[in-house]
Amino acid sequence: MQRAEISVRQNRTHMTKFSDLKLSPKVLKAIDEAGYESPTPIQAGAIPPALEGRDVLGIAQTGTGKTASFTLPMITMLARGRARARMPRSLVLCPTRELAAQVAENFDTYAKNVKLTKALLIGGVSFKEQDMAIDKGVDVLIATPGRLLDHFERGKLILNDVKIMVVDEADRMLDMGFIPDIERIFGLTPFTRQTLFFSATMAPEIERITNTFLSNPERIEVARQATTNKNITQGVLEFKASRKDREGSEKRKVLRALIDAEGDKCTNAIIFCNRKMDVDIVAKSLKKYGYDAAPIHGDLDQSQRTKTLDGFREGTLRFLVASDVAARGLDVPSVSHVYNFDVPSHAEDYVHRIGRTGRAGRDGTAIMICVPRDEKNLADVERLVQHEIPRLENPLGSAKAPAKEAEKPAEDAPKSEKPKRSRSRSRKSDDAPKAKAPEAANQNVADDAGKADKQSSDAPAQAKQEKSDAERHTKRDGAQDGKKDSKRNDTRDNNRSRNDNRGGGRNDNRGGGRGNNDRGGNRVVGLGDHTPEFIELSFAERPDS
Ligand code: AMP
Repeated sequence: MQRAEISVRQNRTHMTKFSDLKLSPKVLKAIDEAGYESPTPIQAGAIPPALEGRDVLGIAQTGTGKTASFTLPMITMLARGRARARMPRSLVLCPTRELAAQVAENFDTYAKNVKLTKALLIGGVSFKEQDMAIDKGVDVLIATPGRLLDHFERGKLILNDVKIMVVDEADRMLDMGFIPDIERIFGLTPFTRQTLFFSATMAPEIERITNTFLSNPERIEVARQATTNKNITQGVLEFKASRKDREGSEKRKVLRALIDAEGDKCTNAIIFCNRKMDVDIVAKSLKKYGYDAAPIHGDLDQSQRTKTLDGFREGTLRFLVASDVAARGLDVPSVSHVYNFDVPSHAEDYVHRIGRTGRAGRDGTAIMICVPRDEKNLADVERLVQHEIPRLENPLGSAKAPAKEAEKPAEDAPKSEKPKRSRSRSRKSDDAPKAKAPEAANQNVADDAGKADKQSSDAPAQAKQEKSDAERHTKRDGAQDGKKDSKRNDTRDNNRSRNDNRGGGRNDNRGGGRGNNDRGGNRVVGLGDHTPEFIELSFAERPDS
């Protein structure tokens, strides 16, 4: 896109009303009923070219209103015409089942006054039902790449009539090794299709794909959330365990202290771990100590994942311990805190993770624990967000001080006693005290490296804190589905954090070297009635395109 055009669109953004966007009246009515007052920047930028039939490259992350930026024009454009059996007229590819389910919900919301058929093809649901839906003919097919190709290979799906293809969260597709699948799917759809392509970042591999498959796209970029969302208070605690083999348990203790230190301000939180194994351990440990916590990652049964997510959204679960993938689909408007138990090994994940809080103009807090071996990752994160993350003091202080009231709770899991945390953070807790760790029982699992994490028995002297199980609140929304993919999925969780060559499958695609897997979960948050300030900002210029 030309610079001049960009500035025109930028100007337009602030004044744009939905009614200026040439959407169909029925879509406008649905928008009105959804209570949206004005389009977000990605919507104002993407909808007009999409309605003109142009390819769109949207650089935006979840929470910016990007789903509506493609669903609204699609509904408008698909209002005319009918689908033939097994030949969907449009295709939306999402990296995870949860995200796909949410996109489907968006279609339901915005297409409620229009007659459009849709089908959701995700793992964990029987092929039969999905076959039946496709057989009838669908206007919109929303799918995870693996499941879509499964259907295709079974001869149940013909993609020759796809007029609009959306790739959502392409960077996440890359992380999950889906790029070969995506390339293959591109190849199965008509050359003349319109492509709407969204990614939070433009990794070289993503750039390559867009150069190959998009035709003179309109490029719209919305500012990165992490760099602009000022309502998220960030902090990192640099922590060194007293002994390597105690790192796990001491880290968990620090986590509890950090939670307690927030007191009632922490109404609910998502706690991110890099490895799903740690997701389980941390959730178990927190539970043991009386915190209302549950894990979510792709190895868990889908019905359990759904139940856990629903509980978190509804506010009956206060702490959600999650892997990146599992939490990506989340649309919980009010998450007060995000804890990064580990520094993410891919810096962009930090942006995604902390973006779970501070939604819809609310305040949010993002706290991270960094052990020495994660320092490089921390530097990467800071480089990405372009600022130094303020250092926190260890709320355990020297770990001796708080002792008194602290010791007891440790033993029998501090149900709901309010810990007296002192905010005396002293930067390090190397001297993590010893204690009979109530955690012991939890540590049945070792580290990814295979080292047993025997922290248990020497769990530090359960310091002072042990704040209450403050009441939680959250909202619900969204839905999950799928199941068997969870295996393939979270396998990636692991793979991803270990090897960096995610998205590896270069061009070997065509043959079908699918990195398959829909992974479990990711999703986004709502803007509510207000558009957060950060969303109003951006539209960075890009000379290229
Ligand atoms: P998304 O980035 O697509 O995941 O959207 C995030 C949230 O923003 C969703 O919960 C939408 O309901 C909400 N949303 C989308 N567009 C608007 C808008 N124009 N005004 C207010 N909220 C919106």
